[in-house]
Amino acid sequence: MNIQDLLRPTIKALKPYSSARDEFQGATDNMVFLDANENPYNNGVNRYPDPQQGDLKKIISKIKGIATKNILLGNGSDEVLDLLFRAFCEPNIDNIITLPPTYGMYSVLANINAIGINTVQLDANFQPQISKILELADTQSKILFLCSPNNPTGNSFTTASIEALLNGFKGIVVIDEAYIDFSEQKSWITRLEEFPNLIVTQTLSKAYGMAGIRLGICYASTAIISVLNTIKPPYNVNTLTQNKAIELLTDKDLAPQQIQTILQERTVLIKELETIRFVSKTYHSDANFVLAKVDNATMRYNQLIEKGIVIRNRTTQPGCENTLRFTVGTVQENKILIDTLKSIS
Ligand SMILES: *Cc1c(COP(=O)(O)O)cnc(C)c1O
Repeated sequence: MNIQDLLRPTIKALKPYSSARDEFQGATDNMVFLDANENPYNNGVNRYPDPQQGDLKKIISKIKGIATKNILLGNGSDEVLDLLFRAFCEPNIDNIITLPPTYGMYSVLANINAIGINTVQLDANFQPQISKILELADTQSKILFLCSPNNPTGNSFTTASIEALLNGFKGIVVIDEAYIDFSEQKSWITRLEEFPNLIVTQTLSKAYGMAGIRLGICYASTAIISVLNTIKPPYNVNTLTQNKAIELLTDKDLAPQQIQTILQERTVLIKELETIRFVSKTYHSDANFVLAKVDNATMRYNQLIEKGIVIRNRTTQPGCENTLRFTVGTVQENKILIDTLKSIS
């Protein structure tokens, strides 16, 4: 498969904007910078940020075991996903495939970019229906979005089904691994070389506790990363975000310890939910949330709001009738949740 054949014609022909910081590299601290029309007085943010986020990428590269040349960073996964649409999907011509119930941003971004949406609902076990997906795909189907672990169901797709889709689908396969750090499944980033059409996205918003700084990560072949680099806004990850991410990721034990506690609490939460009279089922979770089936999701959702607890009502999602999605909170928050569920039971 040749990635060049999948790109939009305008993107293939694109000459990227070259910023001052792109044209001069090899900066050292004692140089005089009169190239970017910045205010020269230092306040910590008077200079433009590093457009390639070199220091931050090095840390992520080390944590994840992937070369920096296979990494692109964005203003949240949402920016990364939007870049993928702009690289591969021609407005009013191309389409994507999504597998509901899943993350809502794929179809929102498709609509914003005037891209068609084809859907194949997950099966009763929330796994992809391989042959239906491959039959539905046509020559204009440019991206297949796989969210694994999936939001809002919490499960991972089987290795065999993802492999079958990577081999059978003739476009880009995006695996959204926003929740991978809560999962026992291995990340697909180790298999980028095997599948030239594979793109993996991750984020610092969930396990790493940095939803507020907006930092999304894209892992792909160097061929794909260099295309995305030509279309991303030059300074898309700001200085405050880069500095905060470096600061928190440098504390190597912080995220792993929090993840450990969240996983223990997930087990407790599932056990407790199963004792609640109106909960008929909980679903296996590889993420930091639990989906549960109840008698009347909208009624239970409103009862919890009245008690000051906000969860997500997923009842309108295909295959998710009368389900609620509970994020795993702190030990104390989870206790408040369970006590409240018992009191309205
Ligand atoms: C939360 C979430 C993200 C994270 O998006 P950011 O823009 O990086 O905060 C991505 N994908 C899925 C499936 C999510 O649930």
